[in-house]
Amino acid sequence: MNLLASLPKGDALDEQAWCSRHRGILSILWLHVLGVPLFGVYMGASPTLYLGGGGLLACIAVAARLSMVRRRLQSAIATCGLMTASALLVHLSEGQIELHFHFFVMMPVIVLYQDWLPFLVGLQFIILDHGVVGTFMPDMVYGHTGGQTHPWTWALIHGGFILAECAALLYFWRVNELAQDEVRASEARTRMIIETALDAVITTDAAGTINRWNTQAESMFDVPRTEAIGKSLTTYLSTSDPSTEPGPITSYAGLVPGAILNRRSEMLGHTCQGTSFPVEIAMSCLTVGGTQQFTIFVQDISERKQQEERLHRAKEAAEAASLAKSQFLANMSHEIRTPMNGVLGMTELLLTTPLNDKQRRYADTVHNSGTSLLHIINDILDFSKIEAGRLVLEYIPFGLRQMLTETIGLYHEQARKKGLALSVTVAPDTPDIAHGDPHRLRQILTNLVGNAIKFTETGNVAVFARPDEGDQKLVRIEVADTGIGIPLHAQEKIFDSFSQTDGSITRKYGGTGLGLAIVKQLVGMMGGHLGLVSTPGQGTTFWFTISLDKSSSRVSELQPHSSNETTVAMTAQQ
Ligand code: ADP
Repeated sequence: MNLLASLPKGDALDEQAWCSRHRGILSILWLHVLGVPLFGVYMGASPTLYLGGGGLLACIAVAARLSMVRRRLQSAIATCGLMTASALLVHLSEGQIELHFHFFVMMPVIVLYQDWLPFLVGLQFIILDHGVVGTFMPDMVYGHTGGQTHPWTWALIHGGFILAECAALLYFWRVNELAQDEVRASEARTRMIIETALDAVITTDAAGTINRWNTQAESMFDVPRTEAIGKSLTTYLSTSDPSTEPGPITSYAGLVPGAILNRRSEMLGHTCQGTSFPVEIAMSCLTVGGTQQFTIFVQDISERKQQEERLHRAKEAAEAASLAKSQFLANMSHEIRTPMNGVLGMTELLLTTPLNDKQRRYADTVHNSGTSLLHIINDILDFSKIEAGRLVLEYIPFGLRQMLTETIGLYHEQARKKGLALSVTVAPDTPDIAHGDPHRLRQILTNLVGNAIKFTETGNVAVFARPDEGDQKLVRIEVADTGIGIPLHAQEKIFDSFSQTDGSITRKYGGTGLGLAIVKQLVGMMGGHLGLVSTPGQGTTFWFTISLDKSSSRVSELQPHSSNETTVAMTAQQ
């Protein structure tokens, strides 16, 4: 049972392979049409035999090409021709043992058909002409006395050889058949993948001539594969850049190495009606046996492009609306600030007049609320100005140490009231005089130090300034506190506008969530970076770098400076 299953099935050859093998086998037969008569002349045999033999072989060779004869029959006829040639050679040589090998050599030739019919025809020929004739008319087959006197023995010896040869041939035939089945299955798989792919899949040869065009390509380009195959790829695809001439596929790959091969690129697809549409292609090259094959996956990106266009327009509209909103806010805040200053000024004046306790309390509340409101309005005004791109930075020389000390000094009283130590430390190599915008730098510091004091109940708030380790042109300023800290999840968005850690903190400490957003924008405008390190419950360190052009001139005019590290402790912890 197993033996039968391991025998070749005999149906592995496709039309193309059969045709080429049949042509080769017929050429061998035609060689014999000439060779057999020549051999007969050489052997001095009867002309009737060798001329008749040659003629017979020629007729067989012609019959084996007749198109009306079916393929398998043509193979069987060609086999008869080769076997007749073997028999003629044996008989013309009067049974010379060397010519017997001709039969053995013809069998592998016949197995090239990978078909049982010619194989069995060939085998039967050997059995009849060699076995039966050799046994019963040994003089015709064996030219030596051994064969003539013991024909059965010689028939058995030759039969053994033939059997061994056939077993080996059947084995290799089966192995070959299995390999061909595997190739066919793999080709079928590839074809199925290509046919069911969502993209159009096109393959071309090295000159860019299309040799495969899948169903998706048919519907995408509206061109049937029968029409597309054989055309140049440039008929259907061109570069989207009109200045680049579309050329054969090799020149795409050759002219711009790496620009098209093995990466996604955008091109224009062309239908047969002359309409164009944007496509994204991915092209790869496979070299098999020295021949280049290009595979191109094509995706119609018309919809994506339209969506991108819509998104782009929506983004522009949103940006324009945001700009208009920022401008409106900037104008409105400005308009509110002016009367607010009036309210505050008048309240301050009112507080200098004789008031009873109740009136003073009311006026104080008006003043405090007004100050908070003005603070918020100022933040909104700044933020809107930055968003609207209307904030212009100053560029003037100023005393960095002095500005730091003075700004931090403003918080002396506030820190003292909360019992916090407030210090500022400036490293000796920090520039004394810098060029930049002192007003905005002060605003950054005010926000960070104000927050540090606001969110710290015990401990200290310390400010450090030193040249940045990575880039000496930058100054790094840190504001460290021992306050409530910021949880990790809140750290990521703390610099977004209106962002606060959580609702309970807002309720307890107040604020708008605009301060850090403004600080981030200002630091960015000054060419620096901003970051923070925080452990909830232990404290927070905000750091930022700013690029302030160092200037050595006019130091004395601006402030006395010291080259030593300056540490100013504002207040001792109480
Ligand atoms: P505001 O303080 O007006 O709410 P900010 O933008 O200055 O706005 O701060 C946003 C939030 O960041 C604060 O509400 C607070 O939750 C958190 N935060 C800022 N600085 C600190 C700090 N030093 N320690 C703890 N939390 C802070």
